[in-house]
Amino acid sequence: MEIAVVGSGYVGLVTGACLAQIGHKVTCIDINVEKINKLKKGLTPIYEPGLELMLKDLIKKKRISFSSSIKSGTKDAVAIFIAVGTPSKSNGEADLTYVENVAREIAENMHSYKLLVEKSTVPAETGYRIRRTVQMNLPKKYRKAGGSSSFNFDVASNPEFLREGSAIEDFMHPDRVVVGVESKKAEEIFREIYKPLKPRMIFTDLKSAELIKHASNSFLATKISFINSIAQVCDRVGADVLKVAEGMGYDKRIGRAFLDAGIGYGGSCFPKDVDAFVHLSHKSGYDFILLEAVRKVNEVQRRAFVRMIEDKLWIVKNKTIAVWGLSFKPNTDDMRSAAALDIIQTLQKEGANIKAFDPQAMVNAQELLPGVTMVKDMYCAVKGAHCLLALTEWAEFKTADFKKVYNLMQQPLIFDGRNMFAGHNLEKFGFEYYGIGRGLSK
Ligand code: NAD
Repeated sequence: MEIAVVGSGYVGLVTGACLAQIGHKVTCIDINVEKINKLKKGLTPIYEPGLELMLKDLIKKKRISFSSSIKSGTKDAVAIFIAVGTPSKSNGEADLTYVENVAREIAENMHSYKLLVEKSTVPAETGYRIRRTVQMNLPKKYRKAGGSSSFNFDVASNPEFLREGSAIEDFMHPDRVVVGVESKKAEEIFREIYKPLKPRMIFTDLKSAELIKHASNSFLATKISFINSIAQVCDRVGADVLKVAEGMGYDKRIGRAFLDAGIGYGGSCFPKDVDAFVHLSHKSGYDFILLEAVRKVNEVQRRAFVRMIEDKLWIVKNKTIAVWGLSFKPNTDDMRSAAALDIIQTLQKEGANIKAFDPQAMVNAQELLPGVTMVKDMYCAVKGAHCLLALTEWAEFKTADFKKVYNLMQQPLIFDGRNMFAGHNLEKFGFEYYGIGRGLSK
């Protein structure tokens, strides 16, 4: 099938590449000409494991192409996936400017049936608004009285659940594919698109599909804030949150996933999607107090981590603080709403000198953290440092040579914001170790 994907970011590019990989002919479109020129040369503008190799192969086989024009890029497509950003406004509401721009431009260039697919995370009712926008912006010759047109088109919701860092695997082996449709024809097209993956498909109405995405992300954020609250109690009573999570996680009704205590959730999805869902609920007349608490716990968690550093370091001013990990999670270069940003900026304001290392995110991070010295490896970061903060659980940090780290550091003090190290082992090397909810070194 000929498919166009509008927006070639973390979601659009992976969606486009995977749809091409399973046999469709895909055009990836982006307004950012520089990004498109890079992609045409086989260079990937983001870091996602396996993506660059996959794209190079697909380009060679002519199964994927790139364009900065919606007009030419969507001309022959039956289905058009919209995968542009939906950031937060200052009041938490989802900003749908990019979605509206794209819907309008697609409509202006539409001459035959198209299926418009919301891949971006959008609030319930966006589908209805896209439909109206398309109807009002079709070329005049196709418009008919009463808001209809001389050919049909469909709007559908197909929310994406991939995780950065394992996006290709997630797309190719989804737990489920959720599709909100308004016509049998649209349903058939989706069955055809996803047939090679043989996924469990859930067909719903449009609004329910839109809501499934917000509800899923909000629930996962709730699990994280829940275990972070448990960690706070663990610290106070001297229990170990890792053991508590293990004991809870074996209960099939609960599950172990997303029970990792730490410095809170970040990234481009959870913070903005929780905000958008709170806003949508409020607007519709329901105060989602549970999610307001989830948000608050997340903020408290970061502040509590900084307070612990201030307490154990005593004087922050002029101290050299080493940071391992900047991205919001491992295996990505994405810095959007990363916990590292808040934590580092607060310590910088207090006069600390920060030396940081991240395997992939340093280029993106440098723009957001101008005063931070980025160094070439994790050992350079700890040289002469008064403490080490572990903020992203990249695998290579877990196997670090801690004898070497101990010898390089000025003071043997480690704050593990992701509970990625075995604290008791580090104490054997001579470190003072502080995790989250671990009740160690107290
Ligand atoms: P992104 O910022 O990486 O990519 C968005 C792309 O859209 C950018 O390259 C931008 O240049 C392009 N764009 C903006 N306006 C355009 C226009 N008018 N025409 C063409 N291209 C345009 O964003 P992302 O992380 O890929 O997220 C996209 C959507 O998917 C969001 O709604 C997000 O919530 C959702 N989502 C993201 C993830 C994730 O892990 N990143 C997972 C699931 C869902």
